Order: sequence, then C-alpha cells, then structure tokens
Amino acid sequence: MTDRILFTEIAVAPASTQPRCNDSGIHTRSFSGLYRNLRIGFAGALFVLFFGTAWLNWEGRQAVLWDLDNSKFHIFAATFWPQDFILLSALLIICAFGLFAITVYAGRVWCGYSCPQSTWTWLFMWCEKVTEGDRNQRIRLAAAPWSLNKLGRRVLKHSLWLAIGLLTGLTFVGYFTPIRPLAAELFTLQLGGVALFWVLFFTAATYINAGLLREAVCLHMCPYARFQSVMFDKDTLAVAYDPRRGEARGPRKKGSDARAQGLGDCIDCTLCVQVCPTGIDIRDGLQMACIGCAACIDACDGVMDKMGYARGLIGYKSEHSLQGGSTHWWRPRLLGYASALIVMIAALGLALQLRPMVSLDVIKDRGLFRENAQGQIENIYLLKVINKTARARHYQLRLVDADGFSLQGKTAFTVAAGDMSEVPVSVALLAERPASSSQTLGFEISDRDDASIRSVANSRFVAPLNR
Ligand code: SF4
Ligand code: SF4
Repeated sequence: MTDRILFTEIAVAPASTQPRCNDSGIHTRSFSGLYRNLRIGFAGALFVLFFGTAWLNWEGRQAVLWDLDNSKFHIFAATFWPQDFILLSALLIICAFGLFAITVYAGRVWCGYSCPQSTWTWLFMWCEKVTEGDRNQRIRLAAAPWSLNKLGRRVLKHSLWLAIGLLTGLTFVGYFTPIRPLAAELFTLQLGGVALFWVLFFTAATYINAGLLREAVCLHMCPYARFQSVMFDKDTLAVAYDPRRGEARGPRKKGSDARAQGLGDCIDCTLCVQVCPTGIDIRDGLQMACIGCAACIDACDGVMDKMGYARGLIGYKSEHSLQGGSTHWWRPRLLGYASALIVMIAALGLALQLRPMVSLDVIKDRGLFRENAQGQIENIYLLKVINKTARARHYQLRLVDADGFSLQGKTAFTVAAGDMSEVPVSVALLAERPASSSQTLGFEISDRDDASIRSVANSRFVAPLNR
C-alpha cells in the first residue's frame, strides 16, 4: 500500500496512481446503490435539459437560441443583445463562484454527478455494457481473436456511440442555428458548409471524448481538475477510505471475529477498484485521478451489508474526520464564497429586473443641418430601436423638454419581437433664431400599450447662429 495522500496534497499525487488500461480502456464492473441512482437522476435531468430545450418553442420561435447572424440571444421571453452581454458574463461568474463554493464544501461532486464529460461517458459505458456484456464478458471479448461475433458487437457499439455523438453535435449546433431546419437539412443530406462542419466536429468530439478518451480527459485535459485541489481544506468532503477502520485488510469468513484475527473491516475484495472508472484504488488515499463519482462507496456499502458491518468504510469524509476529529461545516472560506454568491445573485436579479425592455440609440446625420421647404433649420437623425420582448410592440416617439422644436417623420411604428428597426426622423427648429449653436435634444419612445416600457436617448441639435 502506498502512503496515503492527504486531501491538501492531492496535487502531488504520484504517477503510480494513474489508471490501469488495457486494449479497450478500463473495464468497470456494474454496481448498484444510492449514489449510482443519484447520478442517474442528475444525468437524466441534464439529458432532458440539453436535448429537450433545443426543441422547445416559445411564442413562435425557438425558446433558447444564440442567433449568431443577428448577434442576439433568445432565452424564452427575453432577448439579449450585445449590450446586455455583461449580464451573461455576470451569470458565468456566478456559476464559477457556485462551483468554487460546492468544491470547498464537497470536493469533486460536480465532476462525479453533473459534468457533461462524466455524464456522456457513463452513457457510452452503458452502450458498451448493452452491446458487449458485463465486465468479465468485455474482458474476454477484448482478449479474444477477431470473429464475426466480436466484429458485430464492436460495430454495434461504435454505431451507437456515433449516433449519440451525432445527436449531441446536432443539438449543440442547434443552439446557434434554428434546430428544426438544421435537422431537416441534415437528415435529407442537404446540409452543407459551416453548419455541417460544426455538426461533424461536435459528433467527433463527443465520440472521442466520451467513447475513447473518457477519464483521460479529466486526468490530462481538464483545467478544473488541476486547480481545484487548492480549494480543498481539511474540512472538505471527499470520497475517502477510512484506514483506521479498514486496516488491516484481509479475507475472513462471514460472521467470524475479525478483530480476534487482527483484521479491520476491509475484506480486500477489490470491488471498489473494479467499479472505479479511472482504475484507481481509493484505499491508497485521495488521488488526483479520483473524479468523485462515488461508485466505490456503493460497491463497498454493498459488501458491508453482506458482511453485516456498518456502511461507510468508504464514504464522503473530511480529512479532520479521518483523523478522528469532527468536520467544521461553517468556515471562513465557505462563508466567503456563499456570501459573495448571494450578493452576486441578488445584484444580477436586480439588474435583470431593471433591464430596459426597449433600447433606443439616436445617431445624428453627418451633415450638420439643412434648411427645409418652410425655411426652418432642420437636423436629420437615425433612430435604432430594439424590442427586447417576445412580442411585437407598437411604439410612440416624441421629443422631451424640447419647446421650439418639431419632430417630423414617422412618430408611431411597430417593431417585431426580439427585433431591431431603424427609423429616420428629422427635427425642425420653429424659432427664427436658435438659442445656441448646439443644444441637447431628448428623444423618448414608449410602448403604446404598456407605459412602463420606455427609453430615452439624447443627441445634439446644431444650428447656425447667424443666417
Ligand atoms: S470494496 Fe470495501 S471491503 Fe472491498 S476492498 Fe474495497 S474497501 Fe475493502
Ligand atoms: S476512487 Fe471511487 S470516487 Fe474516485 S473515481 Fe474511483 S470509484 Fe469514483
């Protein structure tokens, strides 16, 4: 047994803890248990969310769509334009802080239960089990010479993987280009160009990452796996083996007095190793290769049940609890993350609440001024009006605090849901002489059906002092 690695020393886990591979990856054993059921629940929710949301429609358009061509992001009733992307950045920062807080509290639960890499890998492993059998059958198949049976099973497995990869690639691209026409064109072989490239790219990425590389992605490519160890402290929960209870390990007859034989609770059945997707032995201590999937907990709890021992020889434990102390739940770092998270969520909620649902930009024509048919000084403007709501809006345009000026052109217009309209208007000076050569003019648009939806923007009115 190698020296046990302390939680706070994960980053220096020795190379000997790298997974043991054979010609077709690690063959994990099937198991059942509480954490497996939890993981299936999380994975199911993620699949429903990912594959289902792309097909949802909301008020006549795709509910979630990042429309790259028009630089806008639809999410149900709301449409976000580039000027709103600060809110999306804030959302990403909140997600990052949430992940940090969870990691400080419970280690790699994100990796084990919700990370798409792990989730898709579990799905691909399930396909492998369906097509090639359980662990022992797969080991025998891998070692067997090529035959029609082996070829057929392998072709079926890889076909299933490719089908899931294609569905994943199609769905992912479908969040950036409307998915219904995309799918129709793909399945009638009419899809080409950039869209086809990206669908095939993400198909291949899914197939390679979840089918061929699997946990190697977590071990060698994922940056989060590298830096998360700095977030661990002695009270962080992580999947761990309790050596004080388990050692000395060794086989014994059920019902025999293990203590009298100098044995701990570990019967050295190695089931915890056989179910591990990264092929490590958790009894060697916490290792970088452990993705926190808790499969070894389920396997060991099953053994403990059969032996009549208490569950939890492997479980979620903190370093303090492993050393015989108690875990401190409320600690400064965790409180810091939680407080920052609450403040950021409240600020984002407020910003979303106050976000104007119509945006107005006023661009003054490059010509300074002109004289109209009535002999009045006139300035030309182009108004850019963005409707950020999910239905067409009828707007009224007027000047604000602009005595002596007259607005000419279209003052009532409609903008489609989530769309932008350009409205040219002109403003004429009614007075013979201007008060100054440059004055501020306020433009206001308001929704004719909902007075709370309004926006004001300023521009300049330029006129000659002497004519
Ligand atoms: S499953 Fe439990 S009893 Fe079996 S080897 Fe692992 S720790 Fe020991
Ligand atoms: S050691 Fe346990 S929790 Fe860690 S990856 Fe292996 S089975 Fe999952």
